[in-house]
Amino acid sequence: MATGRDGPTVLIVGAGLAGVACGLALDAAGFRVRLVDKGRRPGGRLATRTSGGSPSGMGEDAPYRFDHGAQYLTARDADFRAALDGLVSTGSAALWTGRFATLTPQGLTPEPDAPPRYVGVPGMSQIPGQLAYDLDLALEAELSPPQRLADGGWDLGPFGRADLLLSTAPAAQTAALLEAAPALAAAAEPARFEPCFAALVGFDRPIELGADGLFVEDPEGLLRWVAVNGAKPRRPAETTCLTLHADPAWSAARLDDDPEILKHAPLRRLKELLAAGGGPALPAPAYHRGHRWLYARAVQVVAPRFDADAGAGFAGDWAPPDAQGSGRAEDAWRSGRALAAQVIAAGG
Ligand SMILES: Cc1cc2nc3c(=O)[nH]c(=O)nc-3n(C[C@H](O)[C@H](O)[C@H](O)COP(=O)(O)OP(=O)(O)OC[C@H]3O[C@@H](n4cnc5c(N)ncnc54)[C@H](O)[C@@H]3O)c2cc1C
Repeated sequence: MATGRDGPTVLIVGAGLAGVACGLALDAAGFRVRLVDKGRRPGGRLATRTSGGSPSGMGEDAPYRFDHGAQYLTARDADFRAALDGLVSTGSAALWTGRFATLTPQGLTPEPDAPPRYVGVPGMSQIPGQLAYDLDLALEAELSPPQRLADGGWDLGPFGRADLLLSTAPAAQTAALLEAAPALAAAAEPARFEPCFAALVGFDRPIELGADGLFVEDPEGLLRWVAVNGAKPRRPAETTCLTLHADPAWSAARLDDDPEILKHAPLRRLKELLAAGGGPALPAPAYHRGHRWLYARAVQVVAPRFDADAGAGFAGDWAPPDAQGSGRAEDAWRSGRALAAQVIAAGG
């Protein structure tokens, strides 16, 4: 096992929860870790979008703020729960004790027993962002498929050289990145994702929907979930910011549609369902955007893997330990930890 700060150099692709979990564990074991992410912020699918506010305010004073990927995190795993509780104690996360309900055309049915649900504060991306704070992280840094060097390391182009290459990008992207390690690329390929279309709708005033997190049972198979972002801790209260998630099959059938046209259908459907169930009429939105998640939820998974001969490995919510998981953020964390354990056990 590597000790001190003289361990092997490791490049981790992706600063989502899997990459951050893996990076923290390897950093603690003395590996020299660098994370790269092509996004403008760390977090991957733990994502927050803001509109308005001061240019230097990092979105904290933005009147329109949406978590448009993962909505909340649940933690059965003790290690993940400890990491989240640590963030709660420093104010970067909180428990969302909102009113959860199922919405049908007949109206709202409150959820009887809610599990503890964690959210980032002031947005979901704060969770990986804070966890990765002390790691070496390059943003807006997209890695192209690298080649191996004669000495067994990896030629990472603009990112230099590393002894080990670990990818936490979604499975298809990982398979492409690891083309120089064909056995690993082949092991990633069976994983499958379903997409999700998200509509972000902002109103310039508070609106009472009767619940804060709405699981939708839509007979037309369009709408799946509605979140009232302002009901989460430390979000703007003077506006109403709704995240609408469409059904995966509905989203999959419209992958080529323009999100700015598609964004109208989930809102129209929400209005119909609210009207049918005696809910409020919604005014014209002040903010309305669409976002397509091509790789939203892993529905077919593989196990995380490190190949010492290839000097490479992969993790992600699509590669939970023992291939046991359901494509949740917790699986990404567990996968990143499991990959790090394999790397440490192999001595780098
Ligand atoms: C709409 C939606 C709703 C969800 N709801 C929930 C929920 O309520 N609860 C829950 O637990 N989970 C939920 N999830 C799932 C959860 O978000 C994921 O399980 C988790 O965030 C995955 O983390 P990850 O690190 O495996 O991958 P990601 O977060 O996808 O991170 C991978 C990172 O790799 C980067 N990357 C890819 N290719 C490259 C490259 N070539 N170079 C550099 N960087 C690259 C990407 O930019 C990305 O940041 C939801 C997801 C979506 C999309």
